[in-house]
Amino acid sequence: MDTRDPDHYTLSSIRRGRTETLEAVSSSPRAIEDAVSVSAHLYERAAAIIPGGVNSPVRAFKSVGGTPRFIASARGCTLTDVDGNEYVDLVCSWGPMILGHSHPAVVEAVRQAATGGLSFGAPTAGEIDLAEAIAARVEPVQRVRLVNSGTEATMSAVRLARGYTGRSKIVKFSGCYHGHVDALLADAGSGVATLGLPTSPGVTGAQAADTIVLPYNDLDAVAAAFAAHPGEIAAVITEAAAGNMGTVAPAPGFNAGLRRLTAADGALLIIDEVMTGFRVSPAGWYGIDGVAGDLYTFGKVMSGGLPAAAFGGSAEIMNRLAPLGPVYQAGTLSGNPVAVAAGLATLRAADTAVYAALDRNAQRLGGLITAALSAADVAHVVQFAGTMVSVFFTDRPVTDYATAKASETWRFPAFFHALLERGVYPPPSAFETWFVSAALDEDAFDRIAAALPAAAAAAAAATPEGSRA
Ligand SMILES: *Cc1c(COP(=O)(O)O)cnc(C)c1O
Repeated sequence: MDTRDPDHYTLSSIRRGRTETLEAVSSSPRAIEDAVSVSAHLYERAAAIIPGGVNSPVRAFKSVGGTPRFIASARGCTLTDVDGNEYVDLVCSWGPMILGHSHPAVVEAVRQAATGGLSFGAPTAGEIDLAEAIAARVEPVQRVRLVNSGTEATMSAVRLARGYTGRSKIVKFSGCYHGHVDALLADAGSGVATLGLPTSPGVTGAQAADTIVLPYNDLDAVAAAFAAHPGEIAAVITEAAAGNMGTVAPAPGFNAGLRRLTAADGALLIIDEVMTGFRVSPAGWYGIDGVAGDLYTFGKVMSGGLPAAAFGGSAEIMNRLAPLGPVYQAGTLSGNPVAVAAGLATLRAADTAVYAALDRNAQRLGGLITAALSAADVAHVVQFAGTMVSVFFTDRPVTDYATAKASETWRFPAFFHALLERGVYPPPSAFETWFVSAALDEDAFDRIAAALPAAAAAAAAATPEGSRA
C-alpha cells in the first residue's frame, strides 16, 4: 500500500479498513503528514481567519504540537476526521457526550424540536422539564435558571452571591477552571494551565483584586482567608471535584470543610458541577459526597452537546434574580428549545446502566494506562474522581495545582501523539481530564490496549528538551 497515494486518505478509505490505514500512518512522519493533509489544509485556512485557527484554545494542539484534526463526523465512541481517519474518542466534546455521539434518542429529540422552530424569545414547556430534571437529581437545587455556557453559569452565580450577601470577595482555588469569567481566570486550570498563563491581560486590577486564590485541598488556607477577611467574602467557588488541572479529587472532608467554613462566616458555597454534573453519578458529585452547596453550576452533560448550561440553588437565594429580585441576568437564547431538547433527551437516556458503563469504562481505561506505563517503567499516577480519569507522569499523588505542575508534563506530547497516530484521541493537554462515554465497546478497548504499549514507550523515551511543543 502506498501511503502517499493522494486518494488513499479520503473518507472512502475508511471502508478499506482502519487498522491497515493506521498502521501505515504510524510508520513514518511523512506518512502522518499525508494522513492529515486535509486537516492541515483546513488548519491553514482557519488560522487566516480565526485567531489560532480555533474557537477554544486547547483545540489548537499548542502544548502537544502537530496538526489539530478537523472532525467530519462522529458516531458512538468514534470520531472521523476530514482525512477519513477514525479515532476512539476519549474527549467526548470535553464532557457532554456521555452516551456517545449521534445517540438516536438525542438526535430524534433535536430533529423534532428543530422542526417546531429554533428560537422564540418566549418561554417553552421543555425549559420547565429540564429545570425539573436537574432539581430532581440534585436535592439542594430548588430553583434553576438556564444559560448558554458554563462560563455564563459561574459568572451569574458569582454575581448572585455578591448581590445576595452584599460582599465583594470571592475565593477560588489554583488550577480550578470556572470558564473565562474575568474574576475567575487567576491561576486557572484548563487552557489557561495548558498554555502556562498566570492570568489574562484584559482582566483589570479591580476585577482581580476581589479574587483570593488559594491552593486546592488546603482547608487551613481557607480558614486563614476567612480570618483575614471576616464578613468580606461573598462566596467560595470550587469544582465539585477538580478536573481542569487533570483529575484531582477533593481530599476526604475538603468539600465538607468548605461547607462548614463558609456557613460560619455567612459566605455562600458555590459548587461548580459543570464537568462533574450528571457525569460522575445521576446527581453529579453531590451524589457522591452529599455536601450541599448554596449555589450550583451545571453545563456539559446537561446540554447533550448543544450550547446550554444552568445555575441553581435555594429558592431564597435564586429568587433574588430579576424579574423577582434586583440581581440582573438574562439571555436572548437562554433555554433554547433545541438545546433543551438535547439536554433533556441525554438526561432521560442516562439510566443506571449508563452510569455503570461509565464507571466500568473509566476504571478499565485507567487500568490499561497503568499496565502499559508500568510495563515501560514510566513513573506515573492514574487518578480518578468518580468516572473522571487522568494520568500524571510523577511518582507522587497529585493533590493540587503545584503538584500537577511538578509532574513530568514533557512526557505527555510523545504519549499523546503515539496514541493519536494509532487511532486513540485523548485530550491534547497534560492538564485535562480524559472523558469516557458509555458507548466505548470491546473494539474500542482493543484499539486502546493495542496503542498503549507504543505510547508508553514514547513517553519513556521522551526528554524535557524533546517535547514537540
Ligand atoms: C468547562 C467548564 C466550565 C466552563 O464551561 P463553558 O461551557 O466552556 O463555558 C466551567 N467550570 C468547569 C468546572 C468546567 O469544567
